Amino acid sequence: MSQIKTSTMGIPSQVVIVGGGTAGWMAASLLQQAWSQESDASTQITVVESEDIGTIGVGEGSTPTLREFFRKLGIAENEWMPKCSATYKCGIAFPGWLNGNGGSPDGYFHPFFSPLDIQTGEAFMRNACLKRRGVNAAVQPDDFFVGAQLSRQYLSPRLNVSLPFEPEYAYHFDSALLGKFLRERAKKLGVQHIIGTVSDVKRTTTGDIECLYLSRDKRPLKADFFIDCTGFASLLIGKTLETPFYSYSDNLFNDSAVAIASPLDNTQPIPSHTESTALSNGWAWKIPLTTRNGNGYVYSSGYQSAESAEKELRAHMGVSDEVEARHIPMRVGSIRQHWNHNCLAVGLSQGFIEPLEATALMLVQYTLTHFIKAHALALSKGNIEHYRTGFNNNVSQTFAGIRDYIVAHYQCNTRTDSDYWIDNRSHNHISDNLAAILQCWDQGGDFEAELCAQKHQQVYPRPSWYCLLAGSGRFPVSGQRIENAHGIVPTPSAAAREYTAKMSHKFQDHRTLLQTMYGKNFI
Ligand code: FAD
Repeated sequence: MSQIKTSTMGIPSQVVIVGGGTAGWMAASLLQQAWSQESDASTQITVVESEDIGTIGVGEGSTPTLREFFRKLGIAENEWMPKCSATYKCGIAFPGWLNGNGGSPDGYFHPFFSPLDIQTGEAFMRNACLKRRGVNAAVQPDDFFVGAQLSRQYLSPRLNVSLPFEPEYAYHFDSALLGKFLRERAKKLGVQHIIGTVSDVKRTTTGDIECLYLSRDKRPLKADFFIDCTGFASLLIGKTLETPFYSYSDNLFNDSAVAIASPLDNTQPIPSHTESTALSNGWAWKIPLTTRNGNGYVYSSGYQSAESAEKELRAHMGVSDEVEARHIPMRVGSIRQHWNHNCLAVGLSQGFIEPLEATALMLVQYTLTHFIKAHALALSKGNIEHYRTGFNNNVSQTFAGIRDYIVAHYQCNTRTDSDYWIDNRSHNHISDNLAAILQCWDQGGDFEAELCAQKHQQVYPRPSWYCLLAGSGRFPVSGQRIENAHGIVPTPSAAAREYTAKMSHKFQDHRTLLQTMYGKNFI
């Protein structure tokens, strides 16, 4: 709580992060690395965390970008994974999404694409393009991607032989333990930690945040830069700076979740994928950790009551009423000025997209790394407004791109058993960008060109779009041949399966690998 000084380089000398959830400690870790290790600048970072408010306590899935977070901080898997009950993730299975119109009850699989998939992955996308033009071709992503094979066989994405490439993968983890791990590490590196609830915020005449007041401490907590990691409360960016929030409720109907943990069966293999099963008015996640399964039902309160959702989740999981359930309201949407005045919002405070593709921490990481770059450029070029606007547009586009990909899952569902699924397909005000993508796909247009044209809007790579659209069977009905396929021959699924199955022998069993890695810490 000392006087504020800005270092000679213009890097803030005092930064206060409000919020000690995963976002708060990820922010502390990355900013500490970026700003406190500058030779002629040293930033004091303080994290303020309320004991009374608590963290959201869910968020167990991730995308492959999280690997980059640990790599950047120099944290090895065997250092953090055992402390966070973490497992490996090769992709996401979507059972039940295609239960209408004769679709497969197994749904489809979204693997992470890697150089190991180059040949079979390209063959898959070529097949899909042929099928869009009415040619009979195999289009189940499961057969063409190594990650799908690994998950089917309960294998880890870690090789037991040396290859020039490894597959892409992500993790499942206990988010509370990950927060704790990052907190202990950050504190050792000099980040200050204050337990307290911010009850008041004072602004300067220019509108910047000047200082905070804690409920049980009369002294002002000053800083020259503030990070809002207060979760859905959005205390600084929302309540204090009144940054407008744009709801995605026209596109994404789900606004509620109910979560129930379940024990892991120690005699069974550990899956290396997330399961996202469609239920009557939303979908249920199942995420395997080494200590338990995380489960939850994300649904729309406009279509189902909390009581009925909990009952449906219990029936789906086969658990009795005695097992505790947590109900979580979700504020779905995003602000457009993630960096406003001298405040950056990170995590749920800046926005949230339902966790169907487990993208929240990816957005936390994206926001922080791009903020650090934009801030450095703003300082060196002396034009804060220009770089702040560029950064805000960039993050907003990334939110919108992820939203569109999630909305596309609902557009592709074939269920007819509830208004929820029908409305999601038919009464959803999709963005112009998504409409253009779907129209191009449906009409047999140049899909590659469409994705390229939208490269600034679209976050997901082309294999992900193909896996979703082809995997969900979104093709013209047979007999509607759109145009001649120029004699290109489709790759049979058996040929692809032979390759991916052969590759899978080079990978270690998931449970055995975790057991070896965790030693006596394995539960
Ligand atoms: P929180 O965890 O809510 O932390 C907020 C912090 O702010 C707390 O420490 C609290 O004490 C503090 N605070 C609040 N007000 C004050 C105050 N006045 N003074 C002081 N401190 C204050 N993400 C994924 O990446 N993968 C997933 O699979 C995933 N699944 C999810 C499922 C659901 C149902 C939901 C709702 C979210 C999911 N998420 C997922 C999102 C993920 O949980 C969050 O993005 C992540 O945990 C970061 O949260 P946070 O730190 O922003 O907020």
